[in-house]
Amino acid sequence: MANSGQKVVLITGCSSGIGLRIAVTLAKDEKKRYHVIATMRDLKKKDKLVEAAGDAYGKTLMLLPLDVCSDESVEQCINSVKDRHIDILINNAGVGLLGPVESISIEEMKRVFETNFFGVVRMIKEVMPDMKKRRSGHIVVMSSVMGLQGVVFNDVYTASKFAMEGFCESMAVQLLKFNVRLSMIEPGPVHTEFETKMMEDVAKMEYPGVDADTVRYFKDVYLPSSIDIFEAMGQTPEDIAKCTKKVIE
Ligand code: NDP
Repeated sequence: MANSGQKVVLITGCSSGIGLRIAVTLAKDEKKRYHVIATMRDLKKKDKLVEAAGDAYGKTLMLLPLDVCSDESVEQCINSVKDRHIDILINNAGVGLLGPVESISIEEMKRVFETNFFGVVRMIKEVMPDMKKRRSGHIVVMSSVMGLQGVVFNDVYTASKFAMEGFCESMAVQLLKFNVRLSMIEPGPVHTEFETKMMEDVAKMEYPGVDADTVRYFKDVYLPSSIDIFEAMGQTPEDIAKCTKKVIE
């Protein structure tokens, strides 16, 4: 349980990457300012986080299951937090999707929106009433540079982050008069499992009905150059965790 004076921080998508590193960074804060509720949809994946948290696990860091695509899971998770009191919500969970639009089913596109857009909306709707009542709180959203600019072959992912940016910009104005802040973080490439998962999906991709020029451009030009950009410019999850800590301080 949080000590008085400690801020309760709930983070989504802590099984890997940026979410895991934010959870560990805040749980290991030298002044012990944060009581971290690290959530993930499958607690069987907790080992990496527990190992990285070390002594902080069970003290300043605890775990809860949470699937941001499920109304029931979101409600249960927030209800199991003492008094539903969350000072800082970090919406980090997200999925990517890469490839020519003709190769991607509407179902796959909906999964991206269900996670990256409605997942954030669900979480904000659930915590907002208590934050407004207490007239304090901070909601942080992990967007992307692709929430600011379209990028070829990332059409659906980009659209999901644009939608989230629009929602959050509008919400931020409404929340401000209740003294609730809403911040967005917009990282460029970051070395996490995100890229690996997208590349695995691309390896299984089929291209029926896609013109040969588009397939060639995607496979022979776009993919190699995007891997080069990741290698050259990729930040670490630690970089984003440090930035997130600054945003909430
Ligand atoms: P990872 O794939 O390493 O982490 C994504 C996390 O989101 C995982 O914990 C994953 O859980 C979780 N997640 C996915 N779907 C759900 C769901 N329905 N409910 C709860 N959790 C879910 O990627 P990153 O750490 O890189 O991504 C974190 C965020 O950063 C995302 O929002 C992403 O869009 C954003 N971002 C990433 C960039 C990058 O280059 N890596 C660049 C800019 C922004 P599980 O293990 O169960 O799949």
